[in-house]
Amino acid sequence: TNSEATAYIDSVYNKLVEQNAHETEFLQAAKEIIYSLAPVFEQHPEYVDAAILERIVEPERIIKFRISWTDDNGKVQVNRGYRVQYNSAIGPYKGGLRFHPSVNESIIKFLGFEQIFKNSLTGQPIGGGKGGSDFDPKGKSNNEIMRFCQAFMTELYRHIGQDTDVPAGDIGVGGREVGYLYGQYKRIRGGYEPGILTGKGLAFGGSLTRTEATGYGCVYFVEEMLREIGESFANQTVVVSGSGNVAIYAIQKAQQLGAKVVGASDSSGYIHDPNGIDVEALKDIKEVRKARISEYVETHPEATFTEGCTGIWTIPCDIALPCATQNEINEEAAKTLVANGVKAIGEGANMPSTLEAIDVYYANDVLFGPAKAANAGGVAVSALEMAQDSARQFWTFEEVDQKLHNIMTNIYNESSAAAKRYGHEGNLLVGANIAGFIKVADAMLAQGV
Ligand code: GLU
Repeated sequence: TNSEATAYIDSVYNKLVEQNAHETEFLQAAKEIIYSLAPVFEQHPEYVDAAILERIVEPERIIKFRISWTDDNGKVQVNRGYRVQYNSAIGPYKGGLRFHPSVNESIIKFLGFEQIFKNSLTGQPIGGGKGGSDFDPKGKSNNEIMRFCQAFMTELYRHIGQDTDVPAGDIGVGGREVGYLYGQYKRIRGGYEPGILTGKGLAFGGSLTRTEATGYGCVYFVEEMLREIGESFANQTVVVSGSGNVAIYAIQKAQQLGAKVVGASDSSGYIHDPNGIDVEALKDIKEVRKARISEYVETHPEATFTEGCTGIWTIPCDIALPCATQNEINEEAAKTLVANGVKAIGEGANMPSTLEAIDVYYANDVLFGPAKAANAGGVAVSALEMAQDSARQFWTFEEVDQKLHNIMTNIYNESSAAAKRYGHEGNLLVGANIAGFIKVADAMLAQGV
């Protein structure tokens, strides 16, 4: 019965709370996922007997290491690095590296845990992992970034491999950083192992469409949600938070599909452009000049800049795409979005909505595309990059984009079908968690204890 399954999940969750009391982000992600699996345990006692839940919440391995490097003033700096190898049941550990001062074990574990289910949903043979450092790239010179990446890889190289663990980017780690990390790996190992990292430059084993994949994929996923209610992106007003790799290509694809995107942000504040964001100008500011988003209003006088990043959710919109960071939409912001008539939320970032915000969406019949489904396009194309690296053959932009589109449609269909099959029709959060879980659980079951 439901109460038996819930009591079982309670016992697993209570132990997690006891063991990881201070890891608030990890506990938030774990709570969201494991309680939604109750209907699975009701129907599959074999998962309970094999302690699949107890095993899946425990990382297979956590690696924690020191990174020492020298800044431009010749001063020695020390940072902490992490790699969580969470679950390898269906493939090599796969997941990005995050460089941000907030990074700690809780954040890396929440991201790694999410990654298990997300990666499973892509249908590609990739397990779950994540890593990073509390290094703050903000204000660092190009040489400092290079030396930090080299120092980071000088330790990490011994723990990864193209068939064991394949890192990529996340917040603070883009194409430039992946290039420096790859260069150091190659210097140490001295062979051609392009599949060691994904998100590489096109000249050395990268895949076309990888840069665009998370943002495009998020929009493709939301397109499927809208189709269900007979709508599309055409003529919708959209707000996208963030202005990194995910946000920029979400804006671009939404615009290509006929939407008007009126908001974007960075950690300093947000811009509101009622005429529609000029995405090329935004790219130039954020990617080329690596400047603050406030510069946008200098060349676009019709737009306004407001300090602080949560205010972006007060801009009225039909569709909100949070593409910045975790917990960027709290209960109050969710209520404001609902009051202003939001119809759909698509999560481009990882865990951008608090548990309370998600309750607000469901209580108000807002269509909700949860992160591990909606932002799976990035890691899906990473898996395609690994496939191309192995084959030593590369596909065109259109081929990869088409495969990405198919993967996002499949994720939507599988999540939707799992929700229905387990008694939560229309709930993509429950559906994505269940569909992602079952593949990993079956693999763990088949492989024994
Ligand atoms: N960091 C991205 C994510 O959250 C991509 C990871 C990857 O490509 O391995 O899924």
